[in-house]
Amino acid sequence: MNFHSGLAFWALSAALILLGSVVVVSGHPSFHGGGGAPSNPWEAFRNFTGCLPGENRTGLADLKRYLRHFGYLPNPVRPSNSNLSDAFDEPLREAILSYQRNFRLNATGFLDPSTVDLMAQPRCGVADVVNGTASMRGRGLYSYFPGRPTWPSQKTNLTYAIISTAGVSASASTLQGVFSRAFSRWSEVTTLTFAQVDAAVVEPDITIGFFSGDHGDGEAFDGALGTLAHAFSPPDGRLHLDAAENWVAEGDVTTASSSSWAVDLESVVVHEIGHLLGLGHSSVEEAIMYPTIRIRAKKVLLADDDIQGIQSLYGRNPSYNGSTTPPSSTTTAMKERDSSGARPSPATAGWTLAVGGLLVAATASFLFL
Ligand SMILES: [Zn+2]
Ligand SMILES: [Zn+2]
Repeated sequence: MNFHSGLAFWALSAALILLGSVVVVSGHPSFHGGGGAPSNPWEAFRNFTGCLPGENRTGLADLKRYLRHFGYLPNPVRPSNSNLSDAFDEPLREAILSYQRNFRLNATGFLDPSTVDLMAQPRCGVADVVNGTASMRGRGLYSYFPGRPTWPSQKTNLTYAIISTAGVSASASTLQGVFSRAFSRWSEVTTLTFAQVDAAVVEPDITIGFFSGDHGDGEAFDGALGTLAHAFSPPDGRLHLDAAENWVAEGDVTTASSSSWAVDLESVVVHEIGHLLGLGHSSVEEAIMYPTIRIRAKKVLLADDDIQGIQSLYGRNPSYNGSTTPPSSTTTAMKERDSSGARPSPATAGWTLAVGGLLVAATASFLFL
């Protein structure tokens, strides 16, 4: 298909898609105020389905802001939104192409239905592209953060603490079970072990908390749906979850919840732990490190891609037999806490953070979840 016939095709498609989108939207009233369901902050992107280069659409700057947040458009030297217009310009086309390649979509360079639908899905807040490098690599492989940061090689027993559960209805024991199971997914295949500690007694390597809105790290959460969580690359150790989500911490999220916007906590936590350990996003849809998760979806088993990635950083668990098994919370290793005090220096300046894709830390060599 040459360029001109492609345009004609897309012009026709756009008309059909716009017509179709009205039907689709009306078929899902729960996202539009019905039943007390929250609004998805990215739902409005669906209005741009079929939008073509050269067009001007009110609100297209918001989609550019989204692509900028996740690393597909460069950040301005000075924080400013003034340079974002509603024009479908060449940088936007290139950003969409990069997004489509990373997610293994057809590289159309337009806002086709598959692309817009994926952009509207809830996802991890960590950037896909860090410091202008296509960290997802777009070829179906795990990735690292720039510089390949890891926990120190001698530090294989990592401690974690749940430091804030404000706004979350699940009980402490339920949450402990979720995090224990999530960590065990990773310890099962590597030389790393994880043990929960009391942050009031010992300084943990990893801190986990639920937060709302702006919570002090420059990566404000956006309410229900949209960005679900983020975590920092090692050895930072912070894992943050958006307290505004309708988290499902127990039971079957695919059937047990009556809510249309439920998000499975364990699935998201397994993903975020991957970031804590040094993995970036993967283009492999089955991988835990794929950036997007759909509502009411359960995804907690590491894929081969995840296993290869984490073993390349930390080695293989000698007892790992090549297949992961669903562990129970009671079998998760709860090692004695590391009382050596050998916590890596806190990341302040020079974050290797990849949070939120805003590459917040200007002093970092790069920089999201
Ligand atoms: Zn992520
Ligand atoms: Zn945060």
